[in-house]
Amino acid sequence: PKGLSVSMPASALQVLNTVFGYPAFRGEQQAIIEHLAGGGDALVLMPTGGGKSLCYQIPALLRAGTAIVVSPLIALMQDQVEALRQFGVEAAYLNSSLDAQAQREVEQRFARGELKLLYVAPERLLSERCLDLIGSRTISLFAIDEAHCVSQWGHDFRPEYRQLTVLHERFPDVPRIALTATADAPTRTEIVERLGLAEASRFVASFDRPNIRYRVVEKDNARRQLKDFLEGHRGESGIVYCLSRRKVEETAAWLAGEGVRALAYHAGMEAAGRAANQQRFLREDGIVMVATIAFGMGIDKPDVRFVAHMDLPKSMEGYYQETGRAGRDGLPAEAWMTYGLADVVTLAQFIAQSESGEERKRVERAKLDALLGFAETTTCRRQRLLAYFGETPQGACGNCDNCLDPPQNWDATVTVQKALSCVYRTGQRYGVGHLTAVLRGEADERAQALGHDRLSVFGIGTDLDARQWRSVFRQLVAAGLLSTDEEGYGTLRLTATSREALRGECTVWLRRPPGRAERRSAGRDG
Ligand code: ADP
Ligand code: ZN
Repeated sequence: PKGLSVSMPASALQVLNTVFGYPAFRGEQQAIIEHLAGGGDALVLMPTGGGKSLCYQIPALLRAGTAIVVSPLIALMQDQVEALRQFGVEAAYLNSSLDAQAQREVEQRFARGELKLLYVAPERLLSERCLDLIGSRTISLFAIDEAHCVSQWGHDFRPEYRQLTVLHERFPDVPRIALTATADAPTRTEIVERLGLAEASRFVASFDRPNIRYRVVEKDNARRQLKDFLEGHRGESGIVYCLSRRKVEETAAWLAGEGVRALAYHAGMEAAGRAANQQRFLREDGIVMVATIAFGMGIDKPDVRFVAHMDLPKSMEGYYQETGRAGRDGLPAEAWMTYGLADVVTLAQFIAQSESGEERKRVERAKLDALLGFAETTTCRRQRLLAYFGETPQGACGNCDNCLDPPQNWDATVTVQKALSCVYRTGQRYGVGHLTAVLRGEADERAQALGHDRLSVFGIGTDLDARQWRSVFRQLVAAGLLSTDEEGYGTLRLTATSREALRGECTVWLRRPPGRAERRSAGRDG
């Protein structure tokens, strides 16, 4: 590459300037690069977009030999190699997308020592043939990207990653760097154990995105709520995430009908239409992209002003990654989510009905619970989010809904007892709709046919309206005081912890149900 002389060793900064054309390092990049270039091992935790790639690409150019980069995502591998070639760096990849001929060519280039970086899919790397090939040349370093894939606790477990221990067993003198954007404490521990990185230096960048304002609202009329939210972002670019393809299309069509410049994006669309929509989102101002999570990977648009979630993401990692697409330019941006009990029921059902083993289901259920805890929290959301990633921020952030407009808590002990008794007395077989009808003393045909109008709990909850009861039940599910069935009927059951509350042995605080004050002043349903 231009500006790099063979005889004089270049500095990391020179390579950054001359090869990549950037004036300065970001965050801890320089420290990481120098550590690795000097032969040390490293574990790097840095949020998406933080600049992880340069952390191994520059040492690869500073050291003799070829760097082997392990990456699980074929598309990202291709993008990276393409980008490196444009910077004039000799790079290639080996994965299942290559035919036998192309693969041989890459192997020959490697064997001739022409490559500075070789990206390899993990299952390919672990083959004896590939390990032999690697053993035949000087290797400058191993970079293990998306290192959380090693962890069963992680959201993206890849069994092949576990066998990467073979790298430091067979090549003990080659420095290794493991990188990830998502690692809670247990995942981190597993990475260190599984990849033999106990001695490695750790570089942990803050995951905080201070310019993003977090807001979570209780689902009431989701479309109306979304429309109101978008009113505050007129003419700005943003993403609206929905869980299903169908909902993406319906929501996009509805928004378009409401005069919003909305486009749809999901993996089930025909490729040309999808690409066209993506291009418009990238090039034009003020497009609202309604999408499944298929949209966003590798999308580098700095001025996305908001990300809205119409459905719950699957985990905190997912939430962080999706909301993280807002405000890359550092200017104020907003992450908004509407969610209700039905979302919880749907996701819990997905997990219960999935093909995964029991262990895996427990992990996914725990991840959902962490997310629910975040959604229901009455304290600073940023603190909660960062705590999940192992950070302990000092003080509340002042830039989330709970900081800006602190929710009122109320001693809901008696209300909770009523709700739980109602679940118990009706046989733990009904959903929120029926439970609410019984509590509010609405003797509809169903209640009468079941004899529920003769129960002691019939009509003991007229002090709350249906919407408020819905909020109470949702909070009880999120707090683990009620559980939903696995079949997806939305029926609620008591849990081990609900007994205590039922007996009145503990005080339960809930977030004030919405519209309590309004309801009183409106004076409806006496
Ligand atoms: P990550 O892998 O952490 O998500 P990337 O390595 O893809 O992040 O980097 C994100 C973007 O930031 C890329 O477009 C990259 O070129 C750019 N970038 C990284 N480091 C620097 C830097 N020091 N100066 C300017 N741009 C940088
Ligand atoms: Zn806050």
